[in-house]
Amino acid sequence: MPELPEVETIRLGLAGRVVGKEIAEVSVWNTRMVRTQPGGAQEFIYLLEGAKIQAAVRRGKFLWLELDDAKALVIHLGMSGQVHAWDEKPAERRKHEHIRVEFTDGTGYTHVDQRTFGKAEVVDLVPCADGFPGGRGSKMPMMPASATHIARDPLDLGFNVVTVARQLRRSAVAVKTLLLKQELVSGIGNIYADEALFACGLHGSVPGSSLTQKQAVALLEAAQQVMRAAVEVGGTSFDSLYVNVSGEPGYFAISLQVYGRNGQACHKCGNLILRENIGGRSHHYCGTCQRLPRRSRKA
Ligand SMILES: [Zn+2]
Repeated sequence: MPELPEVETIRLGLAGRVVGKEIAEVSVWNTRMVRTQPGGAQEFIYLLEGAKIQAAVRRGKFLWLELDDAKALVIHLGMSGQVHAWDEKPAERRKHEHIRVEFTDGTGYTHVDQRTFGKAEVVDLVPCADGFPGGRGSKMPMMPASATHIARDPLDLGFNVVTVARQLRRSAVAVKTLLLKQELVSGIGNIYADEALFACGLHGSVPGSSLTQKQAVALLEAAQQVMRAAVEVGGTSFDSLYVNVSGEPGYFAISLQVYGRNGQACHKCGNLILRENIGGRSHHYCGTCQRLPRRSRKA
């Protein structure tokens, strides 16, 4: 599933290709992709045709296009969603192409989704409670009504590392699970949670409440650093499911320290990278470099 760096890469691609354009025509081939639009595909198309795209915005893993009528086109990538921008209209519908948006200048984009866990919807923009822009790429303190439960992400201008660190420390839940809670801090998924924990030498099962404020801040800053580095190289592609709007993969996989490396040697100490389950998600860690909670540590 795309996490912040992958969605940011897609957002950057869209920002350069679709912002300022007017939508001429919209095609929906699979109505499952607009299943949350109250009026279905017909309403989805009606609301989009003639609208102008003002900005490509992201908060966490949430991506939307700001429209000129206080609405937003929200693009949920799900597990296998891809957005392909094109300069010339493809002659035929491509495999798994469910939605096509054409602009008045003849360019457009295609929303492809192999497993159709993703979707698209047109929703109202509502004011942000904290007055900061809705997300990266926006100048307006507005966000889609369907995304107001999503917390600010570590790369957001409005992200307050001190406040979020305090919130992390208020919970006795495993810190790995807390990092994945999009209502607490958004954008971090399994890959970058494991990488941030490794960078701080913390085991994912450490309860949030056992962290010092300094440790909690360091952990969030590590998440910032690893995700910034991943954005630089276009995110992490493990399979052909994640590519940017030009169809190219990201190159962060070679920089991963623990995620997906179970059974291999730790780059820091040479011992084995292990994997275990925390809160239903796999946690990759170095048994030597990452400290376990005191009570479960062997004497
Ligand atoms: Zn190690």
